[in-house]
Amino acid sequence: MYLKKLYINGFKSFAEKTEVIVENGITAIVGPNGSGKSNISDAIKWVLGEQSAKSLRGGKMDDVIFAGTEKRMPLGYAEVNLIFDNESGQIPLEYKEVSIKRKLYKTGESEYYINKQQCRLKDIKELFMDTGIGREGYSFIGQGRVEDILSPNSETRRQVFEEASGIVKYKTRKEESERKLEKTSDNLDRVDDIINELE
Ligand code: ATP
Repeated sequence: MYLKKLYINGFKSFAEKTEVIVENGITAIVGPNGSGKSNISDAIKWVLGEQSAKSLRGGKMDDVIFAGTEKRMPLGYAEVNLIFDNESGQIPLEYKEVSIKRKLYKTGESEYYINKQQCRLKDIKELFMDTGIGREGYSFIGQGRVEDILSPNSETRRQVFEEASGIVKYKTRKEESERKLEKTSDNLDRVDDIINELE
């Protein structure tokens, strides 16, 4: 599985629909300062669920929408579509190609899609869990992340290895179940209190 293409439309400096083809092997993006190289990696992070405007080098989330220039009007929405090759079947869907899209309107409305079907961000996160792809995945190493991998702090390094070994999915489900169990136990305590009051 690998990222083979992305479409960027209205995201940051990409006012027009732009197709970026990522060849298998090494792809380097070159260009003068301020030409939008980092905006491409921001776009990938954004689709995979980045919720922090600061991590996307902005002040608020709608700063990712093309804000206009002297010659061009601002746009009303931003959308980015990532196309993954899934010949290997590593993404648990019966498709040879998987598309993941996020769209944000100036009004604040946000939409996510898996293969053109609208979904929740949670669905995208679950789909990529343990694949190494994701906002925090080990396949995405931005500036500052290199330190995490070389970190002398074993807990930080452990998170990278846990994702690579495929256990994050189970850890997340366990945490969810523990939270539900705790809630149920609280409810039971409340029922006990009511029974005691009635007796
Ligand atoms: P460097 O080599 O200096 O790191 P870069 O090629 O990585 O530069 P980016 O940081 O990706 O460049 O792009 C910065 C450009 O994106 C700036 O010109 C900035 O004005 C533009 N930009 C960022 N957000 C928006 C937006 N919402 N609307 C329009 N342009 C934007």
